This record gives sequence, C-alpha cells and structure tokens, in this order.
Amino acid sequence: MTTAALIVAAGRGSRAGGGLPKQYRQIGGEPILARTIRALLTCKQVDLLRVVIHPDDKLLYEDTAPDDPRLGPPIIGGSERALSVKLGLEAMAEDPPNKILVHDAARPFVTQAAICDVIEALVDYPGALAAVPVVDALRREEDGLCADPIDRTRVWRAQTPQGFHFDEILAAHRANTDPMAADDAELARAAGLSVKLVESNAENFKITTPNDFARAERQLSVALETRVGQGYDVHAFAPGEKVTLCGVDIPFDKTLSGHSDADVSMHALTDAIFGALAEGDIGQWFPPSEAEWKGADSAIFLEKAMERIRARGGVLINADITIVCEQPKIGPHAQAMRQRLAEIMMVEVGRISVKATTSERLGFTGRSEGIAANAIVSISL
Ligand code: MG
Repeated sequence: MTTAALIVAAGRGSRAGGGLPKQYRQIGGEPILARTIRALLTCKQVDLLRVVIHPDDKLLYEDTAPDDPRLGPPIIGGSERALSVKLGLEAMAEDPPNKILVHDAARPFVTQAAICDVIEALVDYPGALAAVPVVDALRREEDGLCADPIDRTRVWRAQTPQGFHFDEILAAHRANTDPMAADDAELARAAGLSVKLVESNAENFKITTPNDFARAERQLSVALETRVGQGYDVHAFAPGEKVTLCGVDIPFDKTLSGHSDADVSMHALTDAIFGALAEGDIGQWFPPSEAEWKGADSAIFLEKAMERIRARGGVLINADITIVCEQPKIGPHAQAMRQRLAEIMMVEVGRISVKATTSERLGFTGRSEGIAANAIVSISL
C-alpha cells in the first residue's frame, strides 16, 4: 500500500503582490514551498512526493527543493489548477500509488495530524478532505449593507490536503471537461465518490493576500522555540610545536593529540550545537576511526553543525566557550579566536564568547597533561 503526495505549485499567485510567485517568497527566512515540502516529507506515511510547477519556475524550484530520496522530479503544470492536478496524476499513472494526497503549495502550516487523519480516512472512504467548521455568523451583503443571515449549520471551509484512492481520482480528472473545476473533492463527488470531511484547524490557512504574509510571520514567530546545548571535550598534550584552539594556531612547546586537528574547543562547540539540535555528536557525524578525518581542519565539523541549524530553519543566538588549561595563555588570542569562529559560523562576532580559566594546578589540566573545553550554545528553532 503506497501513499503519494502531489503539491500544486504552478500558480502565479497574483493576489499576493510582490515580485516572485508567492510560493517562492519567503516567510521566516525560507520559501513557502520549501516549508510545504518539508511538512509533507515529515509524514513518514508519504512514500513519494511530486511537485507540479510552472514552466517558468524551473530554476526557482531547483533552488528551493531539498535533497530527499522521496522527492521525485517536478512536473510541469497547466494554466488552471484542475489541469495541473491532472497532469500531475498522469505523470504518476505509469507506476501508480494506492493513495494520493493533493496539497496547495501555499499551505505551509499543514499539521501532521491533518495529513495523517486524511490518509487514515481513506481506509473507509474513497476520498477525504481537510476542512474546518465555520464558527462565525454568515451574512449576505446587499449594497454594502448587512442583509439576510446564512445558515452556517453544517457549513465547512475546505482546505487541503485532499486525499483519494489514486485510480478513482485519476478517472474523475480524465472525465472532467471543466478547466475551472473548484477542487478535487468536487470532481470526486461529481464522479459519485463519497468524500469524508476531516476536521483540521485554522492554522492551515492558504497564503493568498499581502496581509496573509504578515499573518504567516506572526504564526512562525509564535512557533519559534529557544534551545540550548552543551559540549565538553578533552585532548592530551603530545610532543609538538603548536596547538590549534578555536581555529587559531598558537605556538607552544607541545601539541594536542586526538581526532582531526585536536581542536578541543571547536569540538566542544560543535558538540554543543549537535546537542541543541538533538542530532547526536561529532563522533557520530565524523567517526574518529575514519582515516579521512585524521589531521582534518575541525572547521569542517563546525560548518556541518551550522548547516544543520539552517537546514532545520533555525539560527544561532549565541555561543560561549571556556578553555581550561595552565598553558598556553589564551587571553592574547581570545579575540582572534572569536573572529575565526564567527567567520566559520557566518554569524556576528558579538554572538561568540571565548574565555579561559586554569584549574588552579589541580587535576590533569592543572598538571598540564592536556586541555579541556566547555561550550554552551543557544539556538532559535
Ligand atoms: Mg575532540
């Protein structure tokens, strides 16, 4: 039993204003379509995702689509929504899934519950539709005046995803002759299929007008959370001539031994980021057993961790590192270390702190057997 999803992103979005087609405009620093794709791919029941795009948007789409084995090549759509969906379904007809979800590109806030509930409803019904019951009183307007009330009992606002048994919705689209057909649920009903209403929520609104962009930004800022992560690392001294700390070489009468260039402070910082993301640690991403990382510049690891923050739609708020050693003296290099880290992490230097302490000649750092480092970071996700 396979379930595929089809995102309809071929429209021009003229009501939304702005230069780009609205699905490629950013909210929270990311294109709307990228968020919508991620929402669908987050659902593990979706085995395959295809996106229907406008022929002029190929390059925009390439810049937007993530690398994911479940995301198939884009499909070129038509002039009207119904035609775009039909072209999308036809493109999948050769190796058809059992179930198909059709979803608007401009609904990035679809919840996992809505996606799962629509898929679930397809066990008992040939069609299902995410929707919300209307709660406001409805009034007809005449010449700008309030006229007769409209009974809102049993009135729902249709959203997407709309889900169907693939063969049946494909047949319904093939039989359809009206290019302006309202939506897939309507075509399914016209073909005699019963379509279950699945209660969704108002958050899953369709970004349509310029005001909707402001609403989307508000919704995102409420959703942001602050996370912290901490990292700790130790490397032992070995015979040598310099140590590398926070990417800065410091001449010294010893060196540090261990993973990569043994930049103990950058390792602690990288681990703190992976910790904040709950994505394992540096050893899992870059196993010390792999020859590739022997002597490697630790900046590679830190860059990877920063890339993961960005891939999750987050930003680094700040990082604070404490290096524990008797020697070498860190103070004279602290500013250069902050600069180097800021450069690697692509953040302002004011977000990075590097400080040092001794352990009062106690323990392994006190005996100058090695260097320890602690790091703490906060990120907004
Ligand atoms: Mg290490």
